Amino acid sequence: MTGNQTFTIIKPDAVKSEYIGAILADIQKAGFAISALKYVRMTVAQAEAFYGVHKERPFFPDLVTFMTSGPIVVAILKHDNAVEEYRKLIGATNPANAAEGTIRKKYAHNVQENAVHGSDSDENAAIEGNFFFSQCERF
Ligand code: ATP
Ligand code: MG
Repeated sequence: MTGNQTFTIIKPDAVKSEYIGAILADIQKAGFAISALKYVRMTVAQAEAFYGVHKERPFFPDLVTFMTSGPIVVAILKHDNAVEEYRKLIGATNPANAAEGTIRKKYAHNVQENAVHGSDSDENAAIEGNFFFSQCERF
């Protein structure tokens, strides 16, 4: 059975480029309902914990620096088969490989500054949503 929620981040590059409104509009136009939403800035310790699965990767230190370089928008999104459908909407990790019309194709700068995050499994969607939101912040 597939889950009906996923978790997303509008990353610091997209916030700095003033794409918050455009990206949220694309998300809603694609039929995702916003279940939780807020504007925050992660500490280094929080970013290291959030991206813990990548800690052995060569790009990890740069990723933590980037993700803590400014504020982000975090959200829980609802849709049938949400994880897979949202990853289709955002496109490939590297915007050079992302399909036309996808969020990363439209708004990402490069493989690191790639505008948005999307959960890669139902299990991680739940973990990531719980990392940022308490029960009274989600509807
Ligand atoms: P995300 O988890 O942000 O939705 P993803 O699942 O498409 O992206 P991951 O492999 O989980 O990609 O990588 C997490 C993030 O690390 C990427 O979104 C990107 O910001 C950064 N990243 C991934 N690969 C590279 C790379 N080769 N060089 C620099 N940064 C990278
Ligand atoms: Mg990922």
